[in-house]
Amino acid sequence: MSTTVIWHPACRGHDPGAGHPERPERIDAVLTELRAPDLQAAVAWCEAQPAGREPLLAVHPAAYVDALERMAAAGGAMLDSDTIMAPGSWEAALAAAGIALRAVDQAMEAGTAFGATRPPGHHALATHAMGFCLFNNVVVAARHAQRRGLGKVLIVDWDVHHGNGTQALVEADPSVRFVSMHQYPWYPGTGAAKERGVGNVFTVPRPPGLPREKYVHDLLAGVDAALEGWRPDLVLVSAGFDSLAGDPLGGFTLEPEDMATLTTALRERAAGAPVAGVLEGGYRLDLLAAGVRAHVRALA
Ligand SMILES: [Zn+2]
Repeated sequence: MSTTVIWHPACRGHDPGAGHPERPERIDAVLTELRAPDLQAAVAWCEAQPAGREPLLAVHPAAYVDALERMAAAGGAMLDSDTIMAPGSWEAALAAAGIALRAVDQAMEAGTAFGATRPPGHHALATHAMGFCLFNNVVVAARHAQRRGLGKVLIVDWDVHHGNGTQALVEADPSVRFVSMHQYPWYPGTGAAKERGVGNVFTVPRPPGLPREKYVHDLLAGVDAALEGWRPDLVLVSAGFDSLAGDPLGGFTLEPEDMATLTTALRERAAGAPVAGVLEGGYRLDLLAAGVRAHVRALA
């Protein structure tokens, strides 16, 4: 069996500057790994269309979307201490959101898909870029799926950082359930166990350095809690690979094969609902590549 990897060349064009961990080489590492000869049978390729305005406006106000476009056209801007809008960032942000949209369409058609997005999205709030993120790709994808008739969406976020933007965008909406396992306390500071939304938010805050089995077990326990008496029509994975042991931006101990275990477990729990992975973080290139490979193999 195979899965489709959705990509777009413009994702490479977002350049936050020398020394920034969220660098263009990340997407090169991911795509190069997925083009390896031994994955040829498992991976089909699809170049996405950049997102149009309408799907973005389901998540972000027009004033915010317009401001990002203006800033890029004017040569760029600092959006927060580590989130940069550079000349190529507007096209990259539209491409990343478009990849997430297409990943939903592809998963609806074929069961699974992986969106090789960059910049990432899960820290982006409705009106604020944050934490390397410009548009919230996974929530843009969730709203698109709902417009296409998939009413109930489960978002599972295993990036080492709390998906605060995703949570803020869905925490008042019981049609979306959000499970996030993240290092805590850690950037961005949110994601405490008591944060429950309207009963649709399932945070799994954990310290660094636990045995890897513990993270796998606890995330799946969070997923099981979210699925109690509730069946999603779509599962979206905010697939960050900075939760792997050795990533410079986190202290979790997961190994690439754990990403395969988690992916397979989510597919089983999805019980036939489409499953789409959307790339978030991951800042050591070899680990990022190995983690994506394991995730995509398990999607296939
Ligand atoms: Zn992260």
